[in-house]
Amino acid sequence: MSSTQVKDALNRPLRDLRISVIDRCNFRCQYCMPAEVFGPDFVFLPKEELLSYEEIERLAHIFVELGVEKIRLTGGEPLLRKELPTLVDKLSQIEGLKDIGLTTNGVLLPKHAKALKDAGLKRVNISLDSLKDELFGEINGRNVGVGPVIKGIKAAKDAGLGVKLNMVVKKGLNDQEILPMAKFCKENELQLRFIEYMDVGSTNGWRMDEVVTKKEIYNTLKEHYLLEPVDPDYFGEVAKRYRYKGTDVDVGFITSVSESFCSSCTRSRLSANGQLYTCLFNGDGHDIKKFIRSGVTDQEIKQYVTDIWNKRTDRYSDERTDETRKNRKKLEMSYIGG
Ligand code: SAM
Ligand code: SF4
Ligand code: SF4
Repeated sequence: MSSTQVKDALNRPLRDLRISVIDRCNFRCQYCMPAEVFGPDFVFLPKEELLSYEEIERLAHIFVELGVEKIRLTGGEPLLRKELPTLVDKLSQIEGLKDIGLTTNGVLLPKHAKALKDAGLKRVNISLDSLKDELFGEINGRNVGVGPVIKGIKAAKDAGLGVKLNMVVKKGLNDQEILPMAKFCKENELQLRFIEYMDVGSTNGWRMDEVVTKKEIYNTLKEHYLLEPVDPDYFGEVAKRYRYKGTDVDVGFITSVSESFCSSCTRSRLSANGQLYTCLFNGDGHDIKKFIRSGVTDQEIKQYVTDIWNKRTDRYSDERTDETRKNRKKLEMSYIGG
């Protein structure tokens, strides 16, 4: 398979595609879909607004031809999308696609992990922000305890999937959980990724003083563990990783706020309703769903994506200031998927 590698205006190749397959979720995490906003009357996308699996497969083929090597399925909660293994199976047959991952809150993994693995899924990132039932229930807004997620982690491991844990850290909410989570993951040989709380969307009331930076988390860990830096596996690897000395267990940091990484950002995103975004913080999407539903050829779609990528100059996190924050059209995390 030959790939036409495209590069954006800042010379960053297109390598990575995140696909949000659904905007609904069974959680209401307070930093993502606060229950006060996403209440019982909230109107989610009707089915026909979502990209179909056939459309996703077609687009994925084209993105891979343009250089994408990794696809991650996300949401909302991607396991709420019906027959997700069917999509994974279609994607896993794309020549040149090296990796398919999934980000999930984990509670439906006991039901789906094996079928997903059989369909070709390689890895899952499971989000878990606390090991305390009460606090976790408060964070996820649905009073779901830790047990269902732990069962999901076990199911994923038993199915042979690679498992990483994502923990968003918010000051005053779950920063006390940094060490217990690190200990849990080290003992269970799970790679933990601490994620800085981000100013995505406009519903979570983000404030800079609620961000716990990588430096703060690292310093907390360093008091208890010996850590050594690990070299990135590839250009554009987002997590900054360390290893617990004398083990094979890594711990990573997603430093979107304190140490931005726009200069190596190779990621594009497809939202659940088929908009193409070139940056998590650039709310000006491109209506690729409308375009592909207008009867265009694959070559025309390829050109459409190439033109968008070639013009890309996004570097929001590098440039984040109070002014840029105010002036941006905001995208909700549940819609674009992280
Ligand atoms: N529902 C799935 C889950 O929670 O893993 C997938 C979608 S969720 C939007 C993807 C990731 O974004 C999760 O790891 C979640 O913790 C993270 N996330 C959501 N809101 C965030 C925020 N404001 N700042 C940083 N990460 C956030
Ligand atoms: Fe749902 Fe994931 Fe957002 Fe939590 S972070 S509300 S699980 S989409
Ligand atoms: Fe990429 Fe935009 Fe995030 Fe920068 S702010 S790393 S360009 S998604």
